[in-house]
Formats: sequence, structure tokens, C-alpha cells
Amino acid sequence: VAPGDEPPSAWLCGQPAATARAHASHKGSYGDVAVVGGEGLEQRGMGMRGAALLAGSAALHAGAGRVLVALLDAGAQTVDAAQPELMLRRFNALDLPRLTLVCGCGGGLAVAPLLPRILAEAPRLVLDADALNAIAADPTLQQQLAHRAARAQPTVLTPHPLEAARLLGISTAQVQARRLQAAQQLAERFGCVTVLKGSGSVVAAPSRAPAINPTGNARLATAGTGDVLAGLLGARLAAGGDTFEAACAACWQHGHAADAWPALQALTASRLARALSTG
Ligand code: AMP
Ligand code: MG
Repeated sequence: VAPGDEPPSAWLCGQPAATARAHASHKGSYGDVAVVGGEGLEQRGMGMRGAALLAGSAALHAGAGRVLVALLDAGAQTVDAAQPELMLRRFNALDLPRLTLVCGCGGGLAVAPLLPRILAEAPRLVLDADALNAIAADPTLQQQLAHRAARAQPTVLTPHPLEAARLLGISTAQVQARRLQAAQQLAERFGCVTVLKGSGSVVAAPSRAPAINPTGNARLATAGTGDVLAGLLGARLAAGGDTFEAACAACWQHGHAADAWPALQALTASRLARALSTG
């Protein structure tokens, strides 16, 4: 982020309008979300299936018609007994051109080799966590990401400040000192909607004023809440409509769930996912 550039003026994300489900709708009306992530212990000894399952749970509770989860883990289970609605699949069995993809949650090193296909084929895409780290480390993937805008394939990046810093090649402190500019620069560079997470998440898109999300609080500062946001955003993208509006709505809803949380109950990511609704 160049020193001296003017901070852009920003809007606030507003409360999304409640969307009533049409009486004669069916699961195909609400789109299919597939989460790709959750590497296994064999990769870096860091089993992270939970992140992908959390994103899947969030997409499900936020109203996606069908949710598939491709765990990047050779030893992964074929059903999640606690969430049997989630359809666990091998990545190679996903029909990418007809899915909204949420990619990177707990993806570890296993996600990078899949990104060329995902960036080329996924019509709607949320990139989080290790997908962003892989892109930050690979200029070829950066070019492929930027090409999606020309093909009108909506894409949302959901970096936290460290992930944004890696993508921009600057320090986390520099990102945090100029959050609006950092988010705007990512949006312009990659032609994507960008959600720079944290207290007051910034939603930016090319050639328009960014928005700041007014909801949320520090109870969200716990592992897995970012995965929940990614899954929620996947459900909103799958439902159609404007990508920037979908990102604002997802941030607002995610933060609002935390603001409305019962005072005496701990906020955990899996509870947060279950507290989401289609509204
Ligand atoms: P991650 O860093 O990927 O786990 O994502 C954390 C999620 O929680 C993001 O959606 C953040 O915006 C949100 N979050 C974390 N800490 C806070 C905070 N202090 N105030 C508001 N939102 C927060
Ligand atoms: Mg995260």
C-alpha cells in the first residue's frame, strides 16, 4: 500500500433484507455449495478436517440447497455422523462447472495443486485461508485468479490481515494501518470482491467505494469463525445476486449472530454455524 494515497470513503454494510423462500421452491432453487479443504494428518501432521466441516455446516444452515465437502485427506470418513446432511465427496468426483466452491478452509499444502482447475472451472468461488496462502506464493496462480474477472466468474477473497499481508507483500502492521486501502488494492489487483476480516471487516470491489461491516465483536476471536464466514458466503453466492452485496450480507449476518449471542453461553465456531439461518 503506497504511503500518501488518500483513504477511500466507505459505506457501512446494511442489514440484508430477509428473503422468504418461495412456497414451491425445492433444494435445486438454492444452489449447490462444495467446500474443498480439510487436509489430513499425512500432509503436515496437521489434520484440519474440522475447518472444512465447519464451512460446510455454515453453508447448510445458511440455506444452501445441497452442501458437498471434499476433504483433502486420503483417510477421510465418507460420512460425518454428526452432520449426515453434508455429502462427503472426493475432489475428483466434483462437477466443478455447476458448483459454488468454497476453497481453502484447512486446506494446508494439499489445496495448491487443485487451484489451477478450480480457478479455471468454478463459476462462483470463495477463496479463504490456505488457498490464499498458495496464491500469495505463486505468480502463475495470481494471473489465473485475475483472469476470472474477464470471464465474469464471481470470486470473493476472505483474507484475515496476515493473509492479506502475504498477498500484498507487505507486513500485517501495514495492512492494519490502512485497512481500506489494503482491501481496495487486493480487489483491484485481482478483480475480486475482497473481505478483509477483523474488527470492522472491509468489503471491497473493483471501481466502487468499499463498505465496513458494523456488526460483530471479539467473541468471534476464536478458531473456526473464519471458516463459518466462508461457508455462509458460499451459500449466499450460490443463491445468486450481486457478489459485493452477498459479501456485505454475509459479514453483517455473521457479526450479528455474535452480537445477538446469549451472554452466558460460550461462542464456538460450530455453535455459530448452527445459529445461522436463511434470513
Ligand atoms: P479467521 O481469522 O479466519 O479465523 O476469521 C475470524 C472471523 O471472526 C472473521 O470473520 C473476523 O472478522 C471475525 N472476528 C475476529 N475477531 C473479531 C473482533 N474482535 N471483532 C469482530 N469480528 C472479529
Ligand atoms: Mg481463517
